[in-house]
Amino acid sequence: MMEKPTAIVIGAGIGGIAAAAHLARQGLHVTVIEKNSQPGGRCDRFARDGHVFDAGPTLFIMPHVYQAEFAALGASMHEMLELQRVDPSYHLVFDDSSQLALTSDMKSMCEQLESIQPGSFQGYLRYMEEGDRHYHLAMERLVNRNFRTASEFFNFRNLSLLTSLKPLVGHYRNMSAYFQSPRLKAAFTFQDVYMGLSPFEAPATFSMMPFTELAHGVWYPRGGMYQVVQALVELARQAGVEFVFDAEVERIEVNGTRVHGVALADGRRLKADVLVANADLPYVYRHLLPQDAIAERLYRKRYSCSVISFFWGVDKIYAELGAHTLFLADDYRANFESIIEKLSLPENPSLYVHAPARLDASMAPQGKDTLIAIVPVGHLDENGQQDWRELRDRARGHVFRRLAALGIADLESHLLFEVTYNPLSWRKRYNLVKGSTHGLCHNLTQLGYFRPANRHGRYHNLYFVGASTHPGTGVPTALISARLAAERILAEN
Ligand SMILES: Cc1cc2nc3c(=O)[nH]c(=O)nc-3n(C[C@H](O)[C@H](O)[C@H](O)COP(=O)(O)OP(=O)(O)OC[C@H]3O[C@@H](n4cnc5c(N)ncnc54)[C@H](O)[C@@H]3O)c2cc1C
Repeated sequence: MMEKPTAIVIGAGIGGIAAAAHLARQGLHVTVIEKNSQPGGRCDRFARDGHVFDAGPTLFIMPHVYQAEFAALGASMHEMLELQRVDPSYHLVFDDSSQLALTSDMKSMCEQLESIQPGSFQGYLRYMEEGDRHYHLAMERLVNRNFRTASEFFNFRNLSLLTSLKPLVGHYRNMSAYFQSPRLKAAFTFQDVYMGLSPFEAPATFSMMPFTELAHGVWYPRGGMYQVVQALVELARQAGVEFVFDAEVERIEVNGTRVHGVALADGRRLKADVLVANADLPYVYRHLLPQDAIAERLYRKRYSCSVISFFWGVDKIYAELGAHTLFLADDYRANFESIIEKLSLPENPSLYVHAPARLDASMAPQGKDTLIAIVPVGHLDENGQQDWRELRDRARGHVFRRLAALGIADLESHLLFEVTYNPLSWRKRYNLVKGSTHGLCHNLTQLGYFRPANRHGRYHNLYFVGASTHPGTGVPTALISARLAAERILAEN
């Protein structure tokens, strides 16, 4: 009997688990090697004294993508995840404590928008139309497909995208066609930070993000985002995937134009016909492969920002706090300059607070609350000059100050414990280059055909999945990345 081809996947992040499941379903013998003691990568979870924390993603967006990708794995998303729509998706809070609740309720949106800027509801409807067009075109033509050759990207058909997707028009500048109020321009562009970009440099194409959040909704799987990881692991195991945890790959073993296995930090050496690297792509080039000029070139590329996260167990319930609260600073441009150019913390940072127990009471013990605050900051600089303790303390002060303006003035005295992550933690825990939480950013020169491809240029049986390869960051995108890489592996091996 012919032996099954073997594959090793380095890393049990979303992309790694899903790629492993695809390959095993097609008959490969797949082993996933993960340095941490549990799967999930950035989509991580920890619990303390009955408080449950999603350590990375908290927003389940693009539900159609999840649905399609679960179906591609032979499963029903709705059978595996108990989803509820979060509506309003976010409560936006401005510097003067005035609020805007982003909701699918059009009457409420109309009233709220008109009170901020008369006439803006019409602008909102037109902006959503543009976002709808961008979303569908970008998903079909740029995201949901591989680009193996330049001609697959640069062709006559794609030429029309230069006008229809507005890649050469700045996102923020484009907002003037829809809104005059700087607060409304901010309310519908802040999602660019998920792409690692400032709206002042992001292409107007990214109106697809607020569109999908508002039109398709922000959802919450009962039990938190980690349920997605558990569902994927279940599917992978059913397909026969083996997982090895607490095992760090130290080196990829190469021979000519092929890789033939991995060496682990504990001295073990494992062989495979195909390798799939889910660890952050620039890290793989820099630390796991023989050094070459590409590793250095990748290191010099643009990276997304990082975040300081606070995980708090609290001895009372702050029922007045919605599930997702976003404090948006009026000095919006200065915020991005400080994070992206100065690699620092803004004077008055925009920040996000998540209260998961508003959506699922089991995320906190009875009578208590579980809170997560995320403050975007610059990624690690090269000379290590950032003082993360000082930045952490300043960031914490800003969260307390912002919450106090909402009437939550006593949080500090009700904290039972605090866990914090900063860019050094992100780098250490998941081997993310520069501690950048979203990997390589998504500016025009790092998108589509320009993004590092999902196969190595020299080693023809080494493939990549995850945030820093095509198509890019985010849990749903990692699922697409896994399917695209698996399709390519199966076609080429
Ligand atoms: C704070 C934060 C908030 C986010 N919010 C959202 C959100 O709300 N919604 C959303 O959709 N997305 C969000 N994201 C993005 C999303 O989490 C990621 O894009 C996605 O999870 C990345 O998955 P990945 O496949 O790239 O794998 P990764 O998560 O990068 O996993 C790679 C795995 O490889 C392992 N590894 C690394 N090196 C080695 C080695 N040498 N040997 C063995 N194993 C190794 C790592 O430990 C890790 O488990 C957020 C991310 C962060 C950090």
